[in-house]
Amino acid sequence: LAQLFRPLDMLGMVFREIKQGLIDMEAMFGLIDTNAEISDAPGAPDLIVSGAHVRFSHVDFSYEPRRQILHDVSFDVAPGKKLAIVGHSGAGKSTISRILYRFYDISGGAVTIDGQDIRAVTQDSLRRAIGIVPQDTVLFNDTIGYNIAYGRPDASQAEIEAAAQGAQIDSFIKAMPDGYNTMVGERGLKLSGGEKQRVAIARTILKDPPILILDEATSALDSATEAEIQTALAGVAQSRTTLVIAHRLSTITDADEIIVMGAGRILERGTHADLLAQDGVYAEMWALQQAEAEAETRAAAE
Ligand code: ADP
Ligand code: MG
Repeated sequence: LAQLFRPLDMLGMVFREIKQGLIDMEAMFGLIDTNAEISDAPGAPDLIVSGAHVRFSHVDFSYEPRRQILHDVSFDVAPGKKLAIVGHSGAGKSTISRILYRFYDISGGAVTIDGQDIRAVTQDSLRRAIGIVPQDTVLFNDTIGYNIAYGRPDASQAEIEAAAQGAQIDSFIKAMPDGYNTMVGERGLKLSGGEKQRVAIARTILKDPPILILDEATSALDSATEAEIQTALAGVAQSRTTLVIAHRLSTITDADEIIVMGAGRILERGTHADLLAQDGVYAEMWALQQAEAEAETRAAAE
């Protein structure tokens, strides 16, 4: 009977989390088809991923007809490369990730993966190809092992533990009396922001997608946690096509390309060095963050 009620329980949980503004796109899309307008074209084939080349060509988008959010956004992420998206809050960064996952359809331009328009393939195959580590992760009222295996219910215990090791959360889990059977979520152990993010990373390692979207947490993690998460993320991103939405510019200086978004447009683009040389918006953001980091270091030393 418990098995029967679990899906209902999970749905209730998800709705509550959404109300609280904690939106885990994968969990949400996986469980409830919230956007009925998005459907598979009749007889749509599955996406066939060869290298996972992601391309946005002149993308226009609006959530509501009267307010255009993205304007003529174009970029190319070649197989295995890393694109960083930066810009102030509300610039349209997360919208780009929602469009790639096809939560919404665009009003102009095209989004392709290995040359296939994402509107022409099945949503299932598209979403299987993409892993998202969101800003905020929804945990289900279940064991931590279940939460990691979510999305790959067939995973073996060994695979779950290997993923947890990759996400640097395995020893934390093993230190608890019930280990992987520890209940988490609303009615269980409350995990910190950093721990939840590591659960999301473990989920993604287990899913093993060719395309990865990382939406960096805005909430300040302590610097040790931040460093551990960066290490875990770098491991996952290795050899995958990666889009990273970054708040801390120091984490994306190695990106193959950085685009700076402002009010739904690409304002600047290039490598970290290119953008510093341009001495524009990015250079200003960089100088500001460097000054903040120095102030923190000084404060910590006092
Ligand atoms: P960022 O991730 O850069 O902070 P978003 O992509 O989340 O920004 O949002 C870009 C713009 O789209 C913002 O003005 C935001 O208010 C608007 N927006 C985001 N989600 C929705 C939605 N579901 N409906 C209407 N407007 C939205
Ligand atoms: Mg965002």
